[in-house]
Amino acid sequence: MRTSLRVRFVLGTGVMLLPLLLLAAFGYSLLQRTIDSFDTAMHEVSTDLAAITLVQNLLLKSSMPVNDYLLHGRRRDREAFLDLSQRIDEAFNNAVDRNLSHAEDRTIMQAARAHWEEAHKLGSEILALPYPVNDTMITGKTERIDGALDRAIQFLGQVYEREYREIAASHAQAQQNKRTAQVVIATMFGIAVLVAISTGFVLARKIFIPIRKLEEGAARFGAGDLSHRVSLSEDDALGSLATTFNTMAGQLEKIATHDALTGLYNYREFHRRLEEEIARNQRYGHPFSLLMMDIDHFKVINDTYGHLAGDSILRAVADRIIKQVRPVDHVARYGGEELVALLPQTDGSDSMVTAERIRNAIAASPFSIDGGQSVDLTVSIGLAGFPGDADSNLALLNAADRALYAAKSAGRNQVCRFVGN
Ligand code: GH3
Ligand code: MG
Ligand code: MG
Repeated sequence: MRTSLRVRFVLGTGVMLLPLLLLAAFGYSLLQRTIDSFDTAMHEVSTDLAAITLVQNLLLKSSMPVNDYLLHGRRRDREAFLDLSQRIDEAFNNAVDRNLSHAEDRTIMQAARAHWEEAHKLGSEILALPYPVNDTMITGKTERIDGALDRAIQFLGQVYEREYREIAASHAQAQQNKRTAQVVIATMFGIAVLVAISTGFVLARKIFIPIRKLEEGAARFGAGDLSHRVSLSEDDALGSLATTFNTMAGQLEKIATHDALTGLYNYREFHRRLEEEIARNQRYGHPFSLLMMDIDHFKVINDTYGHLAGDSILRAVADRIIKQVRPVDHVARYGGEELVALLPQTDGSDSMVTAERIRNAIAASPFSIDGGQSVDLTVSIGLAGFPGDADSNLALLNAADRALYAAKSAGRNQVCRFVGN
């Protein structure tokens, strides 16, 4: 399968950009993983805080069984206190075991625990009494229990506060970092895409558009449009390729449209231009004239001086004719030593003047031949106008040919205008 240059280029650019895109994807996944691990850490820290809150809640509850015992003296209040004490000890162990970020916090935790132990000791003492109900001696103890518990809870509150503030600060910092990283990665990605697009755009302008123009030019030229040229202003290899292409096209066009001996237009090009003039006449109504010229007794020249001398005289005749016409006129070699001239926007009388000028220019002075000899020459010219004398290309050629025949018949070296039947 034939892969176009454009497809290859797009694939190549894709391969070039792949590492950059992979890098951006890798950066993004790294960021995601960092966020995930941060979330895990946050989860752990909030479990730490929950452990502290649990101790606080249990401590708040712990005085209730003691007060109940004092009111009712029930055995189950003692069991409830025992159960709560056990849970508080476990909760304390759990909270202390957790990784508190400050040594100071650990000291405060220990102080809180010491207060709890004091409250526990006093509570146990009260619960050990057989009939504590309405015992006024123990009122002081219950107040001490409440005071110890309050202090323990307060200390725990301090730890909680400090931990919480630190977490909140590092969380805010992490959020900030996350946003920065997202912006950096998105910017990187955006820059990569922008670079890719602008590189593609510049290359397209610098390479693909010129290549397409060259391709189009070659295709049109190959299809027969010999006048087509590639217009590229680039001052690079493609620009010089276009210049070479145009030079080559120009030379090929010249070969294809001109006669090799005389340098005049050839038969094919003459017909193309004749069609063009007819089309122009149909569009704008401009008349034009056709001169058909034939060298008189040319065979004699060949017979006398040779074919090569004949060739050089033919060239010289062509040169003299070209000098007598306007740049817009088209002179062609119709065949052998017959030449034709198309005179655009020229009616019968004007073309008669031109034809006479040509006839005179040929007859006026002899033609020199290699070796110092010279030879006098004349031409006969038949003239027909479009659309006055004919309504098609063949009819016009026929009319001019008949006028030429008339000129020959009338003695040669003269111009004859077509006269209808
Ligand atoms: P006339 O036209 O006056 O009737 O006489 P002519 O001798 O010119 O007759 P005609 O036009 O029929 O002959 C054309 C001659 O021109 C025949 C041929 O030898 C010669 N000729 C045609 N093409 C060339 C050419 O390319 N080179 C040379 N040297 N001669 C050519
Ligand atoms: Mg002749
Ligand atoms: Mg002839």
